[in-house]
Amino acid sequence: MKMNTVNFRDGKDDLHRVEKKGEVMGVCATFNEKYTCCNVHVLRSVHNCPFECSYCFLQNYLNDGVTKVVKDVTELMDEVTEKIRKEPERLFRIGTWELGDSLALEPGTGQAAELIREFSFLENAVLELKTKSDRIDSILDIDHGNRTVISWSLNAEQVISSEEHGTASLEKRIKAIHKVSQAGYLVGLHFDPMILHDGWEKGYAKLVDNVFSAVHPDRIAWISIGSLRFNPEMKKKIENNYPESRLTCAEMVVGDDAKVRYVKPLRLNMYKHLYGQLKKHISDRNLVYLCMERWDMWEKVFGSRPESINHLDYLFAKSLYGRYGLGKKEPVIDNYQ
Ligand code: SF4
Repeated sequence: MKMNTVNFRDGKDDLHRVEKKGEVMGVCATFNEKYTCCNVHVLRSVHNCPFECSYCFLQNYLNDGVTKVVKDVTELMDEVTEKIRKEPERLFRIGTWELGDSLALEPGTGQAAELIREFSFLENAVLELKTKSDRIDSILDIDHGNRTVISWSLNAEQVISSEEHGTASLEKRIKAIHKVSQAGYLVGLHFDPMILHDGWEKGYAKLVDNVFSAVHPDRIAWISIGSLRFNPEMKKKIENNYPESRLTCAEMVVGDDAKVRYVKPLRLNMYKHLYGQLKKHISDRNLVYLCMERWDMWEKVFGSRPESINHLDYLFAKSLYGRYGLGKKEPVIDNYQ
């Protein structure tokens, strides 16, 4: 019997505007007690992505053959405001990137622009739009009230061209970073996933220098560092979908969260290298964190670590309040338990 299977690529060009169904705001799905998670919240307003990163977990996850955006932003915001109202003294960071790219579809949907306007009125929440695109022109003139952080996932030029198909080139992303920061937005930087490749040290050093030629460190709300990780069953999918990719050739080990990663000494080496490059540009006021790593890795890279996931969440709030006055008042750790 012939199976009717849907290829993950099928839905990438087929955009549907859909009703909101059930709850769409939650904590980032990668949350895991054994790792130092940042406790960011997500708003699942976009499902699927027109880009093709060879490491993207959507190959393993979305199989209904369409791209969906929730059409009614008012309904999204009703849920957001109801949830954040219950903890008025807490500052929520809320991203729309969990199941897709926050801005890749923006020219056709205008959803991000609506969210930016809505968040500008919220006292205890910050919107994070994370992208690998340069589709920012339509949001530049919005009165964002300093409550939206436009973030970029960044990688060495060679990784972008070999593994992040269809995304904006590094040069275009950097121009976009410059434009949004000139428009008064805060910027987030995610050096993630770091990927081993020939000349990776030089590649990541050049990346960091390029980024800081475009934006002042004072305008950078947060910086994350992470490395390649995926569920073991993704290996075959990556090899089938991207036969030219070298991603799965490296030595990798399974972690407590059942994801495979590079072996620890290699990850440590990569993080230390990147952090060393960052320190040439940033100050102590910049908040830098590791994504999906254990406490001991934090200590080895930064020489210190937050006491808990909640403590890290509090440190974000403290930094955002101290640097930009975000949040109702000076955050108190007891509100982050
Ligand atoms: S940009 Fe993000 S969501 Fe889109 S294909 Fe790449 S990893 Fe997946």
